[in-house]
Amino acid sequence: MGLFSRRKTVFVDSDVLVVGGGMAGCGATYEARYWGRDLKVVCVEKANIERSGAVAQGLYAINCYMGMQWDENQPEDHVRYARNDLMGLVREDLGYDIARHVDSSVHKFEDWGLPIMKDPDTGRYQREGKWQIMIHGESYKPIVAEAARKAATEVYNRIMVTHLLMDQSKPNRVAGAVGFNVRSGDFYVFRSKAVIVCAGGASHIYKPRAVGEGMGRTWYAPWSSASAYALPILVGAKMTQMENRIVLTRFKDGYGPVGAYFLHLKTYTENAYGEEYESKWYDQTKELVGDYIDRHPVPTCLRNHAFLEEIKAGRGPIRMVTMEAFQDPHKETVGWENFLGMTIGQAVVWASQNIDPKHVNPELTTSEPYVMGSHATCSGAWASGPEDYAPPEYQWGYNRMMTVDGLFGAGDTIGGTAHKFSSGSYTEGRIAAKAAVKYVNDLGAEQPQVSEREYEDLEKVIFQPLENYKVGRNEIVAGTVSPSYMLPLNGLQRLEKIMDEYVGGISSLYMTNEPLLTRGLELLDMLKEDLDHLGAEDLHQLQRAWELHHRVLASEAVTHHTLYRTETRWPGYYYRGDFPKLDDTDWHCFTLSRYDRNSGKWELEKAPVYHIIN
Ligand SMILES: Cc1cc2nc3c(=O)[nH]c(=O)nc-3n(C[C@H](O)[C@H](O)[C@H](O)COP(=O)(O)OP(=O)(O)OC[C@H]3O[C@@H](n4cnc5c(N)ncnc54)[C@H](O)[C@@H]3O)c2cc1C
Repeated sequence: MGLFSRRKTVFVDSDVLVVGGGMAGCGATYEARYWGRDLKVVCVEKANIERSGAVAQGLYAINCYMGMQWDENQPEDHVRYARNDLMGLVREDLGYDIARHVDSSVHKFEDWGLPIMKDPDTGRYQREGKWQIMIHGESYKPIVAEAARKAATEVYNRIMVTHLLMDQSKPNRVAGAVGFNVRSGDFYVFRSKAVIVCAGGASHIYKPRAVGEGMGRTWYAPWSSASAYALPILVGAKMTQMENRIVLTRFKDGYGPVGAYFLHLKTYTENAYGEEYESKWYDQTKELVGDYIDRHPVPTCLRNHAFLEEIKAGRGPIRMVTMEAFQDPHKETVGWENFLGMTIGQAVVWASQNIDPKHVNPELTTSEPYVMGSHATCSGAWASGPEDYAPPEYQWGYNRMMTVDGLFGAGDTIGGTAHKFSSGSYTEGRIAAKAAVKYVNDLGAEQPQVSEREYEDLEKVIFQPLENYKVGRNEIVAGTVSPSYMLPLNGLQRLEKIMDEYVGGISSLYMTNEPLLTRGLELLDMLKEDLDHLGAEDLHQLQRAWELHHRVLASEAVTHHTLYRTETRWPGYYYRGDFPKLDDTDWHCFTLSRYDRNSGKWELEKAPVYHIIN
């Protein structure tokens, strides 16, 4: 206990506080300095921004680039694309705002040293697909982080933010955040005029395919622990589209991405008997979703749907036909490099399973669901839109400000804007920071007031798992199971089982219904009660404990939203067995939720979808 009794409380004051230094957080930090030359800009990150977030391992492509300098695409085209892929439901104002600025972010990355592949014939960036450009991206994150580090007044690495602080002088206004240093155990109180949450998406809320020997392996980063949602939810920010969890078709066991294979190498899929199968499911899918199946490109969820139906019909596994493309030595190199620059684990899995894609067509699988706002999915916070473009109903303040004053977000945090990926998330961070600086300047001398009582109470709550463990450990004679506390791992597995079995995970092939969801909510409630008894052996486990708290709250949001939307909007992502069809009459809308932390109750409502672009 000696370590913890020496715990210090560190106070940090700032004008703009960025929570999470991934892609969006680095963009926000960089841009906050540009617009706020004299402001104190602080970035706080639970890992180290040098290699943190979903891009930590590097990427092989930047998936959102318009190419306006060569008239390749216009922002309107991207909005149409994202709208089509999300079965009609996106915030077109937010998507347009990102698309019109994203190219400039990519040009900055290149200026800072990111090698972008060039087409030898045209001299333009090498396209992988209509929106993707190819990069030598192993060092993508360190390059982006360097610019953020230079821009920030201070970067605080290794601090897990657990809660936001609210202003005691004005209701519904943010005033900062608290957290702890995962190495020293010091308690941190960040007081700030504006806060930008950029804490990534959520993996490990559903039971993953990889358990036992592969436990922890997931497609989305295992350290994406839903803080982006839990932090705003806890202070009453409205969330949107939390039911729109994503399921990805990926190479089996290593979750290696398929984008470069489909788009650049022109590989294709077939069933176990070497047959094309997608067209077989056309009529059945049309029956469920109507004309959405005729859109081009076919929405991501509907491609999953055909895959799943073919598996259910007993003609799996589905394989990627690589043997043809890999006869070309250039394509073979690209295929391997794609993994070496981004998902080395897939190359290792293939090596260990005697899979050489030149001679064997590798199996694909569908992942467990993830919650995120930056991929072919758009869960996250409900944010105010750009002044020059958002319809009045989507504007209540500053761009990217949530429904809590002074609280902004970007990247996976913000809902309604699919397909932003790494570059779009970075760009949204910049957009949010520009608005946050304006918000701070407009506040003038007015300072949010942090209540001493609030952060002292939170300190007790945050460190309680260490105390629970210390006391409860004495009751154990042998082993690790205690009558008085629950370890974070046990809590995580309990959460994953509930979400998997009741809220449409892999074991039911993503199927759920009202009775299952209702029971799922009851079980989540019981799990929440038990979270007070989490026991943490050390600071590492304390971090796991708070990641679990965040995951549970985000899971509750997912379950409530899934229950509320009585249709199957995205077959292939999840199915409501009691409402198996898409229902544009009643559900061509966003779902919004708000959590009341005093009562523990959720309120849900609909919000209109405005189609701004033809
Ligand atoms: C396997 C994989 C492949 C991908 N492929 C591509 C691709 O080819 N091209 C492309 O453009 N995009 C790709 N993406 C998507 C891209 O990585 C994301 O869109 C982007 O990283 C989202 O940015 P973000 O800032 O919202 O989240 P992140 O970049 O994940 O950053 C979140 C940050 O918040 C920190 N954090 C979390 N919780 C806390 C807390 N409580 N306190 C403090 N800090 C916290 C995290 O440590 C992290 O640094 C891929 C993602 C993955 C996982």
